[in-house]
Amino acid sequence: MTFQDLHLLRNIQEALAEEGYTQPTPIQEKAIPVILKGDDLVGCAQTGTGKTAAFAIPIIHQIHPIVGSAKKRKLIRALIITPTRELAIQIQESFATYGRYTNIVSSVLFGGVNQVPQVDQLKRGVDVLIATPGRLLDLHKQGHVNLDHLHHLVLDEADLMLDMGFINDVKKIVKLTPDNRQTLLFSATMPLPIRELAEQFLTQPQYVTV
Ligand code: AMP
Repeated sequence: MTFQDLHLLRNIQEALAEEGYTQPTPIQEKAIPVILKGDDLVGCAQTGTGKTAAFAIPIIHQIHPIVGSAKKRKLIRALIITPTRELAIQIQESFATYGRYTNIVSSVLFGGVNQVPQVDQLKRGVDVLIATPGRLLDLHKQGHVNLDHLHHLVLDEADLMLDMGFINDVKKIVKLTPDNRQTLLFSATMPLPIRELAEQFLTQPQYVTV
C-alpha cells in the first residue's frame, strides 16, 4: 500500500512526500482508513511505530475543509491528550509538519511553565490542541479552553497516563467534550483500566493492533 491509496488531500500528500514518507507503516495502514470513515478506534501500538502520524494525518484530512481559509474563526476541533511535555511537543511538531500546506493552527499546553504565553495562544485561536491533562484542566477551569466544538479526541499513551496517575483527570476531560465526537485511544499495553476506559468512552470502537 502507498499513501496514494489512502486518497488523502493533495496538500497532505505533498508534505508527506517532502518528509520522504513513501509507504504507510502497519499501524497507519490499518488505522487511517478507520479514522477517515469516522469510527472510534483503539490502537495498540508502541512509540516508534508511526502512531502519531496514524492519527495526525486523518485528523488533518478531516478538519482541513472545516478550517478552510486563514480568515475563518478558530475553534478547537481536535484535542490530543498525552502524558508528558516531550510527547506533547513531538505531536505538535507532527501536526505542523504534515499540515504545513493547510491553515490549521496547532498549539501545545503543558505544566511546569508560565501559563501566560499558552493563554495568549489560545486567545489568538487554535484548531488542534495538544495538552497534558493537568494544565488542560487548569486552563479550562479558568475559562481559557472551550471544547464545545470538538470533533476529534485522542487519548495518547493511555497506559502511561494510567501509570502516572492521570486517569481521573483524563475521565474529567472526556466529560468536557461533546458526545458526538470521534474518540481515538492509543496504548502500548491494554491493562483492565484501559479496556474499561475504552468501553466507557468509545462508541463501538474498531481495534487495531500492531
Ligand atoms: P512515532 O511512532 O509516531 O513516534 O513515529 C516514529 C518515527 O517514524 C517518527 O520519527 C516519524 O517521523 C517516522 N514515521 C512515521 N510514519 C512514517 C512513514 N510512513 N514513513 C517513514 N517514516 C515515518
